[in-house]
Amino acid sequence: MNSQIKDSLDRPLRDLRISVIDRCNFRCSYCMPAEIFHENFQFLPKSELLSYEEIVRLSKIFASLGVKKLRLTGGEPLLRRDLTTLVSNLVKIEGIEDIGLTTNGVFLKKHAVDLREAGLQRVNISLDSLDDDLFKKMNGRDIGIKPVIEGIAAAKEAGLGVKVNMVVKKETNESQILPMARFCKDEGIQLRYIEFMDVGHTNGWQLKNVITKKNCLRCFKPNSILNRLKKIILGRWQNASVIRALLQKWAS
Ligand code: SF4
Repeated sequence: MNSQIKDSLDRPLRDLRISVIDRCNFRCSYCMPAEIFHENFQFLPKSELLSYEEIVRLSKIFASLGVKKLRLTGGEPLLRRDLTTLVSNLVKIEGIEDIGLTTNGVFLKKHAVDLREAGLQRVNISLDSLDDDLFKKMNGRDIGIKPVIEGIAAAKEAGLGVKVNMVVKKETNESQILPMARFCKDEGIQLRYIEFMDVGHTNGWQLKNVITKKNCLRCFKPNSILNRLKKIILGRWQNASVIRALLQKWAS
């Protein structure tokens, strides 16, 4: 009997994502908007979360069915106590070759070394902007980029593979597409742009707020960069001429 799980296109399922917690310290508008996930929002009671024993047991079953990669997610998985204990138990499962973690990075500075020592191999860190004010606005928690940047540095230093995820939303953070690319290039990190997606009708998704991959990539065309420069130069020139006209009027 073939014990591998396959999808409807007959492809073996190799990857399993495990959400270890539904809570998060951020309130990103595209995921957990603060007006819905407010102070009194009822997250799952602790008793409803899978225990670490249950997660390990399920992972063993999935591994026996062909799963090779595990990814721990949340909410924010680092809000769950003793995550390193879970990682160290998952690593021992026969057939599991790779364990990753998706995080907003805020607590990574504290945990990166322990996670690496426990056997974690990689982290995907969410970062939507390098502009402090914009980042605070987007995460809905007034948290600046510093802890995330420190988390990225700590993860690299601990020897974890690091990738950065940036959700791009129209009229929100498209100005950050190029700065983020420059930052990740300088850091030697792979950057993934993620389209603003509908996640269960709570995030006010509208097609008009989506920047497609194609439009993201357009920002990298020399034409687009030249046009931007032209706009900046023309803008400055226009401002200068307006100021000059005002000065002349004032002097006369
Ligand atoms: S950090 Fe991630 S899990 Fe938390 S609100 Fe933002 S997108 Fe959602």
